[in-house]
Amino acid sequence: MTVHNVCIIGSGPAGYTAAIYLGRAGLHPVVVTGALAPGGQLVNTTEVENYPGFPEGILGPDLMDAMRAQAERFGAEFIPEDVTSVESVPSGETGEGSSPLTRLTLDSGDVLDTRAVIVATGSSYRKLDVPGEEEYSGHGVSYCATCDGFFFKDKPIVVVGGGDSAFEEALYLTRFGSSVTLIHRRDEFRASAIMVERARANDKLTLLTNTVVTAIHGGTADTETSAPTATGSAASGLKLDLGGRTISLNKPQGQQSLSLGPTPNTGANNLLGGISLPAAAPAAGNVMSIDIRNTATGTTGTLDTSAVFVAIGHSPATAFLGDIVEKDADGYVIVDGASTRTSRPGIFAAGDCVDRVYRQAISAAGMGCRAALDAQEYLSTLA
Ligand SMILES: Cc1cc2nc3c(=O)[nH]c(=O)nc-3n(C[C@H](O)[C@H](O)[C@H](O)COP(=O)(O)OP(=O)(O)OC[C@H]3O[C@@H](n4cnc5c(N)ncnc54)[C@H](O)[C@@H]3O)c2cc1C
Repeated sequence: MTVHNVCIIGSGPAGYTAAIYLGRAGLHPVVVTGALAPGGQLVNTTEVENYPGFPEGILGPDLMDAMRAQAERFGAEFIPEDVTSVESVPSGETGEGSSPLTRLTLDSGDVLDTRAVIVATGSSYRKLDVPGEEEYSGHGVSYCATCDGFFFKDKPIVVVGGGDSAFEEALYLTRFGSSVTLIHRRDEFRASAIMVERARANDKLTLLTNTVVTAIHGGTADTETSAPTATGSAASGLKLDLGGRTISLNKPQGQQSLSLGPTPNTGANNLLGGISLPAAAPAAGNVMSIDIRNTATGTTGTLDTSAVFVAIGHSPATAFLGDIVEKDADGYVIVDGASTRTSRPGIFAAGDCVDRVYRQAISAAGMGCRAALDAQEYLSTLA
């Protein structure tokens, strides 16, 4: 059976960069690309404007195709499958005096034995799972403020989430948006007190608690003018314009009044106290509004917005590793300091499956480079 020098699991910026370096070092890397998403997360996006070297920006799929072609040029081999498990090859099977091997099992049942492994399987954004989210992903629905905030200059923006990341994203987005509304399903935040204080002190930021997003609607400029809007009197419903952010309110049947008051525990504006709203029709184009529901009262409403940034966490794609390397409580692979060495000699990890902080294509690519150099150094000690 062929024993490979190094197998790379994952074909995002981290995996392809590692393949370029290892290919150029003459180590003939094998990249198991993933069956469903070869190219990684950037394949699902449009313009990438912050990857160095492309002054006019580049389409995500084009960037990933170029990285793959570059790795291919230096002799990388690609297998379009998923790795389903990773285990150590028992020393009895490797022959006396041979270097320790790791065995990757693929979803086809094939196995790859290799001296070194680089895990670069990324992470996936947790989704809201509401109607319109998929449809308008990349057209106003985003999971990355650093990546997409710039596109929403002077537009109303919504951020969903209640942790530190959501607050960081919301505060960052106030640089761009005409307004930012942070929507959280509870009346208390997981975010640190200082982040909440900063948010409260920011005039552009509104905290909307006890509220969930139930649908995302969009349209084109043409449909925007003809889209249904709720206007009228306090008796039937109101349309409020709050600094470029429009909130439409309908009085539920049998209810005497609309109420807008502070949420007792947090002091955040609870804009949905006792109101409900009609749903807007989904259409092609960009995000225009969201449906929201108050989790305490059940009342519903709509909020006009151009963007919905979902910041409710990430799931690193590391379950298939089992216990072969140490992971933290959320499943991120733990590496040794600034290196990419995992708890298992010969297994390295890079990119978003390790990094819960930066999560950028360039930071993943940089870590892929480090993993390649670490693996190269490891392989040189085996000879
Ligand atoms: C919509 C969107 C837009 C973004 N825009 C930008 C931007 O403009 N600029 C920017 O810098 N960043 C952007 N990002 C973030 C960026 O895409 C990520 O930080 C980067 O892709 C992480 O790279 P990675 O190599 O660690 O992992 P990923 O790109 O997630 O790649 C992981 C790879 O591992 C594979 N894989 C997973 N499990 C297995 C398995 N068991 N076996 C084999 N393969 C497996 C997957 O198929 C995939 O190919 C965006 C992200 C999204 C979702």
